[in-house]
Amino acid sequence: MSFHSGFIAIIGPPNVGKSTLLNRLLGAKVAIVSPKPQTTRNRILGIYHGEGYQMVFMDTPGIHKTLTPLHRSMVASAQSAFQEVDIVVVMIEMLRPESEDMPLILRNLKKAKKPSLLIINKIDKGPREKLLPIIEAYRKRYPFHSYVPVSALNGDGTERLLDELRSLLRPGPAFFPKEMKTDQTESFWVSEIIREKIFLHTRQELPYAVAVGVQEMKERPESNLLSIFARIHVESESQKGILIGRGGKMMKAIGSSARLEIEEKFQTRVYLDLSVRVEKNWSKDARALRRLGY
Ligand code: GDP
Ligand code: MG
Repeated sequence: MSFHSGFIAIIGPPNVGKSTLLNRLLGAKVAIVSPKPQTTRNRILGIYHGEGYQMVFMDTPGIHKTLTPLHRSMVASAQSAFQEVDIVVVMIEMLRPESEDMPLILRNLKKAKKPSLLIINKIDKGPREKLLPIIEAYRKRYPFHSYVPVSALNGDGTERLLDELRSLLRPGPAFFPKEMKTDQTESFWVSEIIREKIFLHTRQELPYAVAVGVQEMKERPESNLLSIFARIHVESESQKGILIGRGGKMMKAIGSSARLEIEEKFQTRVYLDLSVRVEKNWSKDARALRRLGY
């Protein structure tokens, strides 16, 4: 039997659980997750290695109406995903099956003419009777290959999801080596973990005003220590003040929860040095965006 493979985009409105599903399927945290919308900014590849096949998942920022240049770059990367992949997975939430972004997503899907599945996520949050009417309504809007209810949180339905996806794969090569689960560099992963902790610890607008860059990452085998220097960019002095917190309390909390997760992943002690820099309007400045990796 020949090897099968394919690129699969996970598309959907913000916060439906795209990154959570990717992490669940891979059994590893490749994408950061938070209860706030628009956590994911870049496209992230997650590679699933099966017996005789390989699925390359593309986690995308949600598709939504654009506001700032940062949003525009996030939406553009989600939209171009339709063109680049073999299979499109559209994800909605069972208790919020409609979203203002859905017409745009379905329009893109019709244009792309790719095999696609509709995933109805978060089925742990309510009774299953809700599913049938949702499936019927979506069937009228677009002929999905199948409709798969899952809980990305507890793994319900993910086996069936993998079976369905597998049936859509076509003969093709293994694009990535067996041990590779993501295309992210380690330093990008570290900057994302720091950003996730900022999303989790701070309120309202602050997480959206933040970008993180790792400046140095050095192993010090003699002391079994990984030392990391990272810089957090914010847009104003007042944001800097909030981020640092009274007596540095906020920074300490963000730093120590990030450090614990980095230690867990690399199985070593970590020294994490975080600095904060005000860079006015980075999210509106095209050059700053490129420099910060968006
Ligand atoms: P994304 O913006 O689509 O990538 O969504 P995330 O993966 O960041 O998830 C957004 C929020 O929904 C997080 O708080 C997740 O823990 C939560 N979430 C994701 N999947 C599920 C699920 O199946 N059930 C429940 N109850 N919550 C979920
Ligand atoms: Mg995400």
